[in-house]
Amino acid sequence: MAKEHPHIVIAIDGPAASGKSSVARVLARKLHYVYVNTGAMYRAVTWLAIEKGVPPVDAVRVQQLLHYTEVTCGVRDGESTILLDGVDPADHLVSEAVNSNVSAIATLPDVRRLLTQKQRAFAFDYDVVMEGRDIGSAVFPETRYKFYVDASPEVRAQRRARQGLQDSIAARDKVDSSRRTSPLTIAEDAHVIDSSNLTVEGVVGEIFGRLKQKGLPLGEL
Ligand code: C5P
Repeated sequence: MAKEHPHIVIAIDGPAASGKSSVARVLARKLHYVYVNTGAMYRAVTWLAIEKGVPPVDAVRVQQLLHYTEVTCGVRDGESTILLDGVDPADHLVSEAVNSNVSAIATLPDVRRLLTQKQRAFAFDYDVVMEGRDIGSAVFPETRYKFYVDASPEVRAQRRARQGLQDSIAARDKVDSSRRTSPLTIAEDAHVIDSSNLTVEGVVGEIFGRLKQKGLPLGEL
């Protein structure tokens, strides 16, 4: 069981292109919480492995690489950041090479252990809206505020196509849902939202309603 942490954690999980990133970012802005994009953290490690010529499926070499790399997480303009030996990989995170290798990296228990530790550390300093695949089920199983944002496969494929991104979301979802360590799953106590026919504001509105019901003080929002 994760250690109690002093800050509020709103966990938003869901499959690729379900709209959870846009929702999490807007929600965090409204609440003045920090937005933590955990997918970006797995993408950053994937980029590092590719850069260093380490095959993403080679657990031992990826672990060695991480051992010798300084992974620094922080916050800038209300959003999480990650630096690898001082380098910000932000511009490379949605490349085709990263898209097609990130799910393999995310199956590696050592990578998950390190990044989960970093993700938990955010909540020691900030109230957070954290999005990913396992936030409600594995990173913060104790939080009372868990959401699972979904959308039909057709809508999700259309959303990625509109962003002009090459992304094999079906293949990623399959690996993400079937891996042994912290697979993509709906936490038992998560509130599920189908965003197929909703705008970002619509999903945020539904989350607000739920947070109010659960007694989270939202002030004038
Ligand atoms: O959210 P995003 O699509 O950017 O995530 C990229 C990949 O990172 C996912 O397909 C998954 O393999 C991995 N991931 C994960 N656990 C998280 C967040 C992302 O395994 N909490």
